[in-house]
Amino acid sequence: MPLVLTQIHLMGQFKNNTYAIIGAGPCGLSAAKNLQDQGIPFEGYEAAEEVGGLWNIKNPISSVYESAHLISSKTMTEYKDFPMPQNTPDYPSQREVFGYLKNYADHFDIKKFFHLNTFVQKIERIEEGKWAIHSDLGVKYYKGVLICNGSLSTPNLPDFPGEFSGKIIHSKEYFSADIFNNKRVLIVGAGNSGCDIAVDAIHRAKYVDLSVRRGYHFVPKYAFGKPADTIGGKIRIPTKLKIAVETQISKWFAGDPVKLGFPKPDHKMFQTHPIINSLVLYHLGHGDLNIKSNIKKFEGDDVHFVDGSSRAYDIVVYCTGYKLDYPFIDNRLLAWNDSKIPDFYLQIFHPRFNDLFIVGMVESTGLGWEYRNQQAKLVSHFLKAQLQNSSKASAFIEKKKQGMVDLTGPMKYLDVPRMAFYVHKQTYQKAIDQAISSLI
Ligand SMILES: Cc1cc2nc3c(=O)[nH]c(=O)nc-3n(C[C@H](O)[C@H](O)[C@H](O)COP(=O)(O)OP(=O)(O)OC[C@H]3O[C@@H](n4cnc5c(N)ncnc54)[C@H](O)[C@@H]3O)c2cc1C
Repeated sequence: MPLVLTQIHLMGQFKNNTYAIIGAGPCGLSAAKNLQDQGIPFEGYEAAEEVGGLWNIKNPISSVYESAHLISSKTMTEYKDFPMPQNTPDYPSQREVFGYLKNYADHFDIKKFFHLNTFVQKIERIEEGKWAIHSDLGVKYYKGVLICNGSLSTPNLPDFPGEFSGKIIHSKEYFSADIFNNKRVLIVGAGNSGCDIAVDAIHRAKYVDLSVRRGYHFVPKYAFGKPADTIGGKIRIPTKLKIAVETQISKWFAGDPVKLGFPKPDHKMFQTHPIINSLVLYHLGHGDLNIKSNIKKFEGDDVHFVDGSSRAYDIVVYCTGYKLDYPFIDNRLLAWNDSKIPDFYLQIFHPRFNDLFIVGMVESTGLGWEYRNQQAKLVSHFLKAQLQNSSKASAFIEKKKQGMVDLTGPMKYLDVPRMAFYVHKQTYQKAIDQAISSLI
């Protein structure tokens, strides 16, 4: 009998109530902790040799670099049931964050549930309540799957005409500023990674330019002597006023990006992910960095820009972000919505299947790991209610049939792929809190 048939046959002889978690980053660890809390059996798969997700710089999928630090401050990022140690700096480094996540796994004793060094190639839905996971371990069957593979590992690559004779890398391949020693450097894209990497290059390179398509809003890391994201947290003011106040505070503390060479933003603050960086504007003011327009074409070591200027470079670093990607599952099973994002209720629950979940398909300023943890808590309560055949689970199943709901609250985010899974923090928190209450 062929191997696969044998396995299916054997599986038919016992009921498998175990769930699979893919990924042991902040979301996969939260998923494990919450399933454990509710007594739901599970096993995890992690491609790297250690838990910690992209914060493990040795993880092949990692998009962090040696100089990376949190861009949200520690109290806004940490899990509420596992605060970072008192002596942790306001914006810990990737090493400290990795250490913290390993300690989280040890504290809740969840590392033992993960198959480390185990890459999941494919997952298949055999029938309701039966999934096949194809991994380095072969094929194993589970009752359901929690996808926690992160959203920052498949590079989004631009395609400019012409040939560049120097070296082009994506920020995912960038680890250390050593590559910039005495080089002519062009950074493409002024997102959070682009700005960090530009600052790294300034201290090593012959010269550094930053090519941008649009203007950005900058939020300083500190304002009034405190991490900027901790200021005014509990004060409720209308969103319009909040945006106006924060734009003004940012100009006071970070500087005016337009005066320093950036194009004028075509959007309001927070309509796209703000740039949380105090150093890029500082270096622009010192002439250590120049702003360039979008690239028109490459020619030898010359880069031609749309404003008609050109300059020669040795290295171009594409800091052009990432694509949402679940490469191990047939996209049709994920109910992609206009090809932008899976059409999942609260961005967690498949509208029809009751055995497939995504934890971590959410972005918002200030959501931190705690609300990814709350996503996992919600899934664990749903599974528990289902196990108990509770009418609360049936009511929730009806509700989630609507698929994606608008969680952008008062915000009007830009219609760009990067913002497709962006939510308004308070609106999202309220929706998750209510959903958890409905199941307990
Ligand atoms: C430079 C930088 C700074 C950042 N700063 C912040 C910040 O300040 N605040 C914040 O909230 N977020 C920040 N982030 C975002 C970051 O994505 C989150 O902090 C967090 O790591 C997301 O957790 P996750 O578990 O969803 O994904 P990840 O951390 O990406 O973990 C996913 C895990 O899944 C594993 N995996 C993937 N595919 C497979 C497979 N097929 N088989 C087995 N295992 C697999 C991976 O190996 C990985 O360990 C930052 C990101 C970067 C790059």
